[in-house]
Parts: sequence; structure tokens; C-alpha cells
Amino acid sequence: MSTLLAFLLSVFVVGFVFAEPTDYFADNGFGKPVSTMQHPCAEYFNGVTYVAYQGPHEDPYICAYNHKTRQWSGPVKAGTSSLGNSPDPTEADEVDNHGRPALVVDGTGHIHLVFGGHGGAWRLGRNTLGTPGSGRQTHVMSTNPEDISSWEILDNVSPFGTYSQFVKLPDGDIYLFYRHGSHRSDWVYQKSTDGCRVFAAPVSVLKHKRQTADPNIHDAWYAWFHKGKGDTIAVTYHHHPCAVIGHKKPRNNGYYMRMNCGDDSWENVRGERLTLPVTKESADEHTLVVDTGTEGVRTGVCRVDDEGHPHIFIKQGARLVYYRWTGDAWQEPVVITRESTGQEGDFFIESPMESRMLLSQTIEGKGEVCWWRTTDGGLKWERETCLMASENAELLLGSLVRNARPEARVVVSEIKADQRNLSRKMYLLGDSGPVRRE
Ligand code: ZN
Repeated sequence: MSTLLAFLLSVFVVGFVFAEPTDYFADNGFGKPVSTMQHPCAEYFNGVTYVAYQGPHEDPYICAYNHKTRQWSGPVKAGTSSLGNSPDPTEADEVDNHGRPALVVDGTGHIHLVFGGHGGAWRLGRNTLGTPGSGRQTHVMSTNPEDISSWEILDNVSPFGTYSQFVKLPDGDIYLFYRHGSHRSDWVYQKSTDGCRVFAAPVSVLKHKRQTADPNIHDAWYAWFHKGKGDTIAVTYHHHPCAVIGHKKPRNNGYYMRMNCGDDSWENVRGERLTLPVTKESADEHTLVVDTGTEGVRTGVCRVDDEGHPHIFIKQGARLVYYRWTGDAWQEPVVITRESTGQEGDFFIESPMESRMLLSQTIEGKGEVCWWRTTDGGLKWERETCLMASENAELLLGSLVRNARPEARVVVSEIKADQRNLSRKMYLLGDSGPVRRE
């Protein structure tokens, strides 16, 4: 066979392979590739949406969608997670899933991922703000701006982090929030004023400590941080009574507070100054949104309206419950949906009375991601159009794309019930459904 013929054949074959457009942009998501907890996992910057997710070996992978040319690039493996096993596990419960990356684009267009930490292993040294776990929180940066093809490690954040979350302020300052170790650890932030090249030392926000009444129980926390109005950062969080002996995983209550980034002070919803790090006693007295009693919660999301008032969704038991600060009180909680599993939602606020939520849930085995909308301040919620539905599947939702365009709002991975392996198809959903890969 002549070289020319071989060349023509390869062009034909490659052309054929890529001729079939797909609704998904990648099929090498692994385990549970995205979550709202490690967030955001995607950002729109200068005409391109960058999407990161957990791939094989729990390593961070990234793809990029050019909105003008409608072309995808990637997946590119951007780093190596110390949580991964070789060979990859074949059972879902053997995957740690804390390989999931959080993503931010700095002012010069360099892309940053933080991933792979689950509290940091013993061998990494002494953790002064918590207890050891596993893995290593790792920070990588794209070598070139607006280019996902090559990456370098920046050794400038604590290795003890997990649940990494990036908050970017309008002035370019970037805050990396995370839990500084395993369960019994403080939640902290590290601040960078130069596009993540240098981070200041960790500052504790939520304090872990042994309870006086029962020394076997430590106060521990789950938290979700987000940019608020102006130069503020809002956080909703939950208490985890962490037992040293007889450990279980209960999480209770909902709390809210905010940071003023001008002077790094913190206050509650009424504007009363808080002392950091916030303890359980202080949280109960000053920042409580809801006491859920014995009902378990999972971490909610919080967004802030133009008046600076928080709106919060908390997963309580099998229900998704909405809270809104009206200016002088928390509005009566509203149950949005209750007869489903796998609820995961994120939302944006159009005005204090109008909000739209993208909610993922599974109803009788069918996964769906649909718009839900309120026009009366959250008293009533209507399910509107669905961006995606999948029979016999669960759809895992990431948090909303930062600075999203309407055609590319959220990243979703699909877990088919009858699937034998742990590979997942990855979708980028917008108002017209999945952003196709041509
Ligand atoms: Zn615990």
C-alpha cells in the first residue's frame, strides 16, 4: 500500500470517527466525576468554556469549548491525583471521588485546577489545623494562557485540603476555601492577589474542636462558599458531630454568614460582627438558619441577590428546602420537591423575587436536569423545561459554570444503572440542551 493511500485512508477513518456528532463531549469521566462540592468545575473566559472533571485514576481532565467556532478540544490530563489506584478500581464504592477538580481562570487567562486532596496523608507532615486523611491537595496551572495543552505544578497551597472551592472577586483576588484535613479539621481559606502564583497562609473560618459535654464527639463542618454582593463572600454550612469511637456521618442544621473582603472581617446575616474562627457555640447563637433536629442534611448551595440577601437550598432528608432572607427575617422554609432521589441543584437569582434553579433528580429510575422557577420570592416553584433526561440513569450535577453563557450553564455526568464499568459520559448543558461535539 502506498504511503499516499495509507494517508488518505487514515484521513477517511479519522474523519469518519469524528463525523458523528455526540451529545456528550467526553466519555472518560470516572466514578462520580463532578459534584457541587468541589466548585466550580467550569468557567467561561474570553469566548471559551473550560470544563474540568475527574477522569481515570481520579486524575483531573479538562476540555475546552470555543463558542465562536463551536469546536471542542481535549480531554487533556492536567495532573496526577495521589488518590488514584492502579489499576483503576472496578467497583463504585472503591473510588474515593475526591479527585474532583475545582477550576478558576486568573486575570492573565491561565487556568488553575486544585484536586486530589482528601485531608492529606500522615507522611505529608503535621497538620496543625486538623487531622490527617488521604491524598494530597494539588495545584496545577496551564503553562500558557487560554491553552489546555500543557500544565505545571505550583507547590503553593496546603496539601491537607479537601472540598477545594475557588471564589474569584471582581478585582482579581482569588480565594481558595477548603477543609484543612479529614473530618475533624478547620475550614480555612488561602488568599491570592497575584493570580494564584502566591497564596497567603491558611486562615481558619470554622473551628473544629472536642465537645465539652462528650469528649468523644468533635464539632466538624461541611461548607459551601460563593461570591456574594460586591466584595463579599457568602457561605452556607452544616454541623457534623464527628465521633472518634463509633463514627457515623450525621450532618445537621443550616447556617449562614459572610466575609467582607475589604478588611477580611466576618458578620452574620444581620450585620453583627463575628469572631473567627467560628465555633459551634457561636454558630448556634449568631448564624443559625435552621435547626433540623435529628433530620439529616446534605450540603446546600447559597447565592446572594442584588440587595445582598442570601437565598439557600438545603437537602433535608429526601426533601429540597428553600430559605430566603427578606431583610429582617428568614422567610418560612419552602419544600420544593420531595419524591425523588439524587437531588442536586444550583441556581441563579434574577431579582430578589425571581430565581431559576437547575435541579437534577431521579424519578422512578429516570434521571433529569430541569429548570425550576419562582416569581414570588420562592413561595411557589414550577418545574419548567428539561435540558436533559436519561432513562435508567442518574445525572450528577456540578455547580453552575462561572460567568456562564446561556448555551453552556452546567456540567453533568451520566451514570447508567446497568453499566458494568465506571466510565462516565460528560455533558455540558445549556438552554438548548447539551452542547454537541461535532
Ligand atoms: Zn466525622
